[in-house]
Amino acid sequence: MENKEKNLIRKIEELKKKKNAVILVHNYQRPEIYEVADYIGDSLGLSKKAAETDKDIIVFCGVKFMAETAKILNPKKIVLLPAIDAGCPMAEMITVKQLKEFKKQHPGAAVVAYVNTNANIKAESDACCTSGNAVELVNSMKENEILFIPDKNLGAYVQTKTNKKIIPWQGYCHVHQNISPEKAKLAKEQNPKAKLIMHPECPAEVLKYADEICSTEKMVKFAKENKNKQIILATEIDMINRLIKENPENKYYSIGGTCPNMKKTTLKKVYEALEKNQYEINVPENIRIKASKALNKMISVG
Ligand code: SF4
Repeated sequence: MENKEKNLIRKIEELKKKKNAVILVHNYQRPEIYEVADYIGDSLGLSKKAAETDKDIIVFCGVKFMAETAKILNPKKIVLLPAIDAGCPMAEMITVKQLKEFKKQHPGAAVVAYVNTNANIKAESDACCTSGNAVELVNSMKENEILFIPDKNLGAYVQTKTNKKIIPWQGYCHVHQNISPEKAKLAKEQNPKAKLIMHPECPAEVLKYADEICSTEKMVKFAKENKNKQIILATEIDMINRLIKENPENKYYSIGGTCPNMKKTTLKKVYEALEKNQYEINVPENIRIKASKALNKMISVG
């Protein structure tokens, strides 16, 4: 690490203490951002940390829907997103107008929204879920028909694990959608001893090559429980850094691409966020109240 980076990390740590802030960092962030993290995790883990923190400021190193989620769950805190243009293309794949129309077409169905949605979509949903608890969440709904939004791939995966009828929206994460069956097959051929662990945002034709299908947090658990093994990861490329950091004795390969939005956060932007209290994320109260009901279901299922 360069001196410039070390210097910035030290300055961020000082400001963090002075301003009584907590820094939450998503797994897919740049490795240097991990260095200033109080917690590193997936959407579910970070949402829980955001909901329970007693700090005055939450700096969210991730994308916008994650910072919104923190604000919805802990509205009295100041929530900052260091890179204001860090959005999630999948979250933009459904609008409130489209969701209302979808609901009209399927009266009586419940709406389960993946946490990767904007606040106004969560407000129109019955429950939220993460990739780690989507199956349990769907099974916990009293309705038998589920409008699953926005990720068609996660929806299709949940369908293989539940007796409920899943009606998926046709959104997707471009990072996982681009992991092809050819890539998965080749990686297994080249590393016959390695276990291939895949995120359920990957398409079904790719998931059939998986030895394990799990959320990023479960990938960490898998690596911990399988020491001195070879592991191929099918998710965003920087997930590999978390696994190397926490379980360096394994050998890792990645067949995942990059999420450019996750790389918009830099150490400089984190420092500026703390220094200038930017960019503050707010959610209108009427939307926040409705969205928090859907999110609390997600947290209660665990
Ligand atoms: S990795 Fe995919 S789901 Fe996550 S923020 Fe990027 S585009 Fe959205």
